[in-house]
Amino acid sequence: MKEVYDVIILGGGPAGLAAGLYAGRARLKTLLIEKGGDGGQIALSADVENYPGQLLEGETGGSLAARMAEQCRRFGVERRTDEIHAAALDGDVKRLTGGEGEYLARTLIIASGAAPRPIGCENEADFIGKGISYCATCDGAFFRGLDVYVAGGGDSAVEEAIFLTRFARSVTIVHRRDTLRAARSIQERAFAEPKIRFLWDSVVVRAEGGDLLEALTIQNVKTGELTRVSASEEDGMLGLFGFVGHLPNTALFEGQLPLERGYIPTDEDMRTSVPGVFAAGDVRVKSLRQVVTAAADGAVAAVQAERFLAES
Ligand code: NAP
Repeated sequence: MKEVYDVIILGGGPAGLAAGLYAGRARLKTLLIEKGGDGGQIALSADVENYPGQLLEGETGGSLAARMAEQCRRFGVERRTDEIHAAALDGDVKRLTGGEGEYLARTLIIASGAAPRPIGCENEADFIGKGISYCATCDGAFFRGLDVYVAGGGDSAVEEAIFLTRFARSVTIVHRRDTLRAARSIQERAFAEPKIRFLWDSVVVRAEGGDLLEALTIQNVKTGELTRVSASEEDGMLGLFGFVGHLPNTALFEGQLPLERGYIPTDEDMRTSVPGVFAAGDVRVKSLRQVVTAAADGAVAAVQAERFLAES
């Protein structure tokens, strides 16, 4: 007989890891499934300065996530690395199917997060890993001494642009409006950074090059004017980092759960419309997507899963 867990947590970002901590402490038989490394999107973050109590010098998203994962381990949470491609949520036992096998549980906490939204320019897919990236922490060092462009105007775009100044000769933020969405404190740092300049009311419409990204066409959305920027012969390439928001990782649940613009609606106890199925973190409909709110969601979801198990 296949093992039936009390709870399966899908996703090892802050929401999933916090859910693991609470489920483990509640002595639920808990399995956490993650397809890649721990931390979800914060693993890509070089600097975490707004998680309460986080004052450690040099704390990265990865190091914070590693400590969260260690807490789960200490409380007996089992782990599997697998990519889930099918889910059956109806019935008393929820069933997930991945490349490595099938997983069963009486409750499920969906904490599968979100993935970077494509920039939307022509030839984007051709230059991913050849000049186009969605992770400054991972790829910033490849652009030492080069000119780099950042698409977006939210917290991620502006924070990561600041991070990229450690490596790049110049960093140009290309934003589709003339005011940034990023928090004021982040904006102030960017405006004070001499290596950063801004192209307002602009979007990247085309990427070009041979093996590597060599040129971008940028359009002013108000005037329609097109500007082509290209790497000097000496540089040979330029960089384009995309931070234009995220798309929720919910394709798996289409047709099984109602979705709003791809996100999973829940009540304030993280309950979805399916009994025994909870959602936590960036994957759900919510107004503030931060590490602190993801972790809080995970805690609530695990406590509610425990109550559901006790009552069913
Ligand atoms: P975001 O807040 O959704 O910002 C996305 C940015 O991309 C916006 O400026 C948006 O422009 C622009 N954009 C969207 N679609 C576009 C398109 N098709 N073409 C060009 N530009 C486009 O995403 P985020 O910055 O990744 O942040 C996600 C969440 O994580 C937010 O809640 C954010 O506060 C949080 N976060 C927090 C921190 C922190 O607190 N330190 C760090 C990173 C992320 P408009 O402004 O015109 O809509």
